[in-house]
Amino acid sequence: MYLRSLLTLLVMLTALSATPPISAEPLRDYFAEAWTTQDGLPHNSVNSIVQSPDGYLWFATWEGVVRYNGRQFKHFGWGKDTHLRDSGIRTLAITPQGDLLVAGSRGSFARYSEQRWHAMPQLDARINQVLSDHQQRLWIATNNQGLFVQKPDGQIAHFNLQHGLPSLSVKALFEDNKNQLWLGTTGGLAYFDGQSFHIQQDIPNAPVVSLAQDRQGRLLVASERGIYRQSEQGFTLLDSSIPSHGVSQILVDNHDAIWIGTINHGLYRLHQGRLDHKGIYDGLPDSRIKALYQDREGSIWIGTNGGLVRLRKANFTTISSRSGLVGDYVRTVLSTSDGALLVGTSNGLSRIVHGEVSTLPLPLPSGDVPSILSLAETASDYLLGTYSHGLLILNKVTGQVTQFGTEQGLAANHVRSLFVASDGTIWIGTTRGLNRLSKGQLTHFDKQNGLSDEYIMAISEDPYGGIWLGTEMSAQVIHGDQVTNLDITQHSEARSVYGFYPDQSGRYLWLATDRGLIRYRYEDGKTHLIGRQQGLPIDKFWQVLEDDEAALWLTSNLGMIRIPLEAANQVADGQLEKVEYRVFADGDGMLSFQANGTSSPAIAKDAKGDIWVATAKGVVKTSPSDIRRLNPSSLPMQLEAVEIDGVDMTMNLPSELPAHTNRIRFEFVALGYIMPQTIQYKTRLQGFDKTWVERNTSNIAEYTNLPPGDYIFEVEAAYPTSERGKGLGKLRKPFSIAPAFWQRKEVIVAALVLVVALLFIVVSAREHILRHQSEQLKRRVNEQTQALQEQAQRFERLALQDQLTGLENRRSFDSFLKNLGKQTHRNVLAYVAILDIDHFKRINDTWSHDTGDQVIREVGRIITHNTRPGDHAARWGGEEFSLIIKDVDESTAVNICERIRQQVEMADFSHIASGLQVTISAGLKRCDESGNHHRTLVLADQALYHAKENGRNQVQLWQADLPARNSHRTNLDT
Ligand code: GH3
Ligand code: MG
Ligand code: MG
Repeated sequence: MYLRSLLTLLVMLTALSATPPISAEPLRDYFAEAWTTQDGLPHNSVNSIVQSPDGYLWFATWEGVVRYNGRQFKHFGWGKDTHLRDSGIRTLAITPQGDLLVAGSRGSFARYSEQRWHAMPQLDARINQVLSDHQQRLWIATNNQGLFVQKPDGQIAHFNLQHGLPSLSVKALFEDNKNQLWLGTTGGLAYFDGQSFHIQQDIPNAPVVSLAQDRQGRLLVASERGIYRQSEQGFTLLDSSIPSHGVSQILVDNHDAIWIGTINHGLYRLHQGRLDHKGIYDGLPDSRIKALYQDREGSIWIGTNGGLVRLRKANFTTISSRSGLVGDYVRTVLSTSDGALLVGTSNGLSRIVHGEVSTLPLPLPSGDVPSILSLAETASDYLLGTYSHGLLILNKVTGQVTQFGTEQGLAANHVRSLFVASDGTIWIGTTRGLNRLSKGQLTHFDKQNGLSDEYIMAISEDPYGGIWLGTEMSAQVIHGDQVTNLDITQHSEARSVYGFYPDQSGRYLWLATDRGLIRYRYEDGKTHLIGRQQGLPIDKFWQVLEDDEAALWLTSNLGMIRIPLEAANQVADGQLEKVEYRVFADGDGMLSFQANGTSSPAIAKDAKGDIWVATAKGVVKTSPSDIRRLNPSSLPMQLEAVEIDGVDMTMNLPSELPAHTNRIRFEFVALGYIMPQTIQYKTRLQGFDKTWVERNTSNIAEYTNLPPGDYIFEVEAAYPTSERGKGLGKLRKPFSIAPAFWQRKEVIVAALVLVVALLFIVVSAREHILRHQSEQLKRRVNEQTQALQEQAQRFERLALQDQLTGLENRRSFDSFLKNLGKQTHRNVLAYVAILDIDHFKRINDTWSHDTGDQVIREVGRIITHNTRPGDHAARWGGEEFSLIIKDVDESTAVNICERIRQQVEMADFSHIASGLQVTISAGLKRCDESGNHHRTLVLADQALYHAKENGRNQVQLWQADLPARNSHRTNLDT
């Protein structure tokens, strides 16, 4: 491990001595973003820029000053509120106490502190610059009226030519790190000795417009005769190559790079001896630079006449036509053996070496500029697959181009993919199949040879000599002349394969498909998908390639996705459910994050390890070893607005909110400017929320119907790519809600006492009234009780009746029999008969239960018809009836039963169902003298059983000599 890092260090040191230092990143590699009036700036001239300690950025314009939070500009114009006399703001400054000073035309001057504006000394002069020095003296540089100073006691002194000023027009004020005050005037540079000013003699007598100090504490003087730097020998010209005329601004950044703004030549940067330029052709909206500022995150802010620009180092840099690329629509990239990068565009071929872009001429007899779709390299040539000119062979040495098209036997002149295999075979993917060029032999593969599709978008080679083809229809592999299809449709119907990457393990081939990333294992041909279900945000990927940091890069229409190779393997092996990844798109430095596919190669890794991707707007590059996590040391947070029940209370929020407060709305912001739209927020209202509430990128929290009590509103913010717990922005705002009058403790106690007393009074009063009413009530209760009793009797009767036949039911019969038992005891003669319909089941089965019911009803009627007063007939259950015949002798009892039997037999049932015939059998027994009616019933039932046994349709009187039988009935369980 140590050895390795030591080696890396050595390599780096050698590299440092040989090539320009790495940190001197070319200015064009900075990512530029711009803001104009369309984005909310009040005016496109940005005269001055500062960042206040609370994190806000401030911009001075001709139409007032604006405060920027990364999301919106908040405007402050002239007027009573700001104490500014004029909207033309020329200069901004921060005092050692952290207050903001704003000054400009017509002596307009104000101070902003703790979210409030304060008046400042009013002068009748145009203020060019203000400065609050270490002694809290306030210096005010005017355009034509010299210099003013306000001492801490409030006294104002004026300096003019008599006090040594070289000129009355003071352009710049600067206090160096030795607390020396310097003055840039139209008459040159001057310094203050505590009493008066002295001209610095050893720089030319030219207007000095801007002053700065480098990291070594040397003063830098931007004059109209060039930029001078302080040294032990005095002031010397900084760099003769910097234009001496028209410098407007100077800034030293935290890497000691000197940024120079000009009045009509854009921006220069001098860093470690290298001078870089950025003008309107490189993305500056205007060539007049009015302000330069570096914020805490290291970004450089540039105020121009045409808007605001911010430069920062982003993870990607774009090389497009602006930086000399021959075309913006890039289809293919190839890292070549000489360390260069070839870039095929719709408008010809470019070559990039060490960041320098050149065009490779492709002289064609037709004079056309070919559109390049694919690239490959042999020892002597570069191979270019074109849109309509077939294969172009570009000789590396002579630069001569040979055309190889359909006339030479190529399947088509539309060449989308190219590959030079390890054995030197050239594979040419056209839209009409594949050509193999080996030892001068051209072979053609098409559907007849087994290609699933002839539109070849990707070609690659595995370590075992297999040549892989990607088409809209599938992936296929060629061994010798044999084409084999790889079925990937089991992975969410995946089909199209746009790119391959045979990884370094030698075990897997990675496929970029229309359903995600697929891993193919050579060993057993198994495939595994890493797609949407495995956490990827989109389906379709064009290319896949591994960087030197063991991560896979996937290109897509929505940007680049980077997945650690290990995580991808773990998902493919089923050890991990979701894959971790990072998306690079908006804000990452790409002019367009739409990567191009359907021809290849469209991704490349160069000798340095940088990854290059063909996009719709140039070729983009990233250095994977240098991928930035946005880890600002802190993320200042501000509570921007508090609204109570719809009223803005931001400026006068009381610590205790009134009772009945219904709605509270907080608006907060984390002042990070790199990718403010990605900052993630979470909130917690202590006293209400149990846990943190994720707000994503929303910076608003609202609460309704909070009960009275003490609360702390908390916000945390971080860039989504920050390491856990780092670069966190935090905000806390305690507040409370007062209880309503009736919610106060003492009020509640008093109310309780009152309620108890009232209750007592009410109860006593009621008691009196109740007594009076109770008599009346009793009467009514009696009446109602009687009515209820009658009703109960009715119900009781109903409860003893059988619903179907209207006969008494078994309950009624049982109680009657019980009473009878007591009477028979007194020698009352009575017989009990049990009558049962024969083969009733058949009736039910042959006709219906409804028919059965009607039969039961009919038989019931016949039985009733034959009973005399005093007899007692009941439906015993089912199709069984019981009959008590009182005060008769045996033969009469038998006769009655026999009569019933005959009448049933003779009865006409045809009105119920045609052909229906019904008979019954009956068992008869004289009531037991001992009053044991249960026994009587058992014996009557035995008699019935005999009647059934003997052929049914008969009456059987129980006789002692009848053989004892089981009960006919199963429910004789009274
Ligand atoms: P047996 O001559 O031996 O008496 O023959 P059975 O078919 O009458 O014999 P059993 O007593 O076993 O069958 C009586 C059937 O009467 C059984 C039951 O489904 C039916 N049943 C009982 N109560 C009712 C009723 O209220 N309505 C109708 N439709 N059928 C009933
Ligand atoms: Mg029965
Ligand atoms: Mg029966």
